[in-house]
Amino acid sequence: MKICIDPGHGGSDPGATGNGLMEKILVLEIALRLKNYLLSNWQCEVKMTRETDMSVPLKDRSAIANAWGADFYFSVHCNGHTNQEVNGWESFVYTNSPQRTKNYQAAIHKAIWSFLSAYGTSNRGIKTANFQVLRETKMSAVLGEYLFVSGNIDSQLLRKTEIIDGMARATAEGIALALGLEKKDSEQGTPILGAPQASIAQAREWARNRNAHQRFIDIASFYWNYGKMIGIRPEVAYSQAAKETAFGHYGGAVDPAQNNWAGIKTRNASGDRQEDHETFSTPEDGVRAHFNHLAAYVGLIPIGEPHGRYLLVKSLPWAGTVRTVEELGGKWAPNLDYGKSIVRDYLTGLLATKASPEGD
Ligand SMILES: [Zn+2]
Repeated sequence: MKICIDPGHGGSDPGATGNGLMEKILVLEIALRLKNYLLSNWQCEVKMTRETDMSVPLKDRSAIANAWGADFYFSVHCNGHTNQEVNGWESFVYTNSPQRTKNYQAAIHKAIWSFLSAYGTSNRGIKTANFQVLRETKMSAVLGEYLFVSGNIDSQLLRKTEIIDGMARATAEGIALALGLEKKDSEQGTPILGAPQASIAQAREWARNRNAHQRFIDIASFYWNYGKMIGIRPEVAYSQAAKETAFGHYGGAVDPAQNNWAGIKTRNASGDRQEDHETFSTPEDGVRAHFNHLAAYVGLIPIGEPHGRYLLVKSLPWAGTVRTVEELGGKWAPNLDYGKSIVRDYLTGLLATKASPEGD
């Protein structure tokens, strides 16, 4: 989605002035923040008619948007009036706009007013006008008048960064809602939650290819059973177990007889010795504990009685907030690369493995 943002006036044209405020400066500030909010939170492209204090003729503003093939045009202005009692926010579309454009206006207007309504200014409503930038743009176009530089209330508000920033953020949210923009994952991480994206046969084949110990191949079905039961992707947990146990060969502090597939420590662990790690009664119970431990990270209800360390993790401030495998770094293990390594060195290979036709 291509969005053209037009900060009004600029250069030799200051726009409305009063109370030491200048429209051309204010609208550039709002527009630049709006651009940043849009680009960092939603899937879209943004073009500005100006990014500095420069003169841009009206006919060039619509021409820039038309030539670029913008899907939406949004013009940012502030108001002025001879009466200082006049304060408020209002928005405009072209007089003969189609319903779609009016719907956009309504959604954006509402989002901005829901922010501004707390600050003592007024809602001057949804309006139409025969403005050149609205008339000459070929795509849906909305113009916002962000308060009065002349107003006794508004001029105070326009001096505050929190108001300028809040209006920009509310505008971005309104535009995103109106246009149905797709949210951008700031982390772009690998989700822990979800249905399996790999089969047990695939997992076993992958484990065999990586020379896994037979005990590691044997537990794959438990991973798929508990993963489906609790809603955590089994291939994610199985990949983590591969990393933690060197594909079931162990070789670290944990003894294979402990049935501890994920390096889970005891509640009162004080070091990294064998006795600092939990022992589970069966291989299957160790798998159940692994999922319960992940449940504390992602905020799911454990299956059966949870182990001691689960309760400790559950009490940490970030418990229940972890969403991606990458975020496990610095939490499950002190190494910040821990989660990335699970994805890079294990999960990617598992997902790319083709199950042999004989299967099992
Ligand atoms: Zn203006």
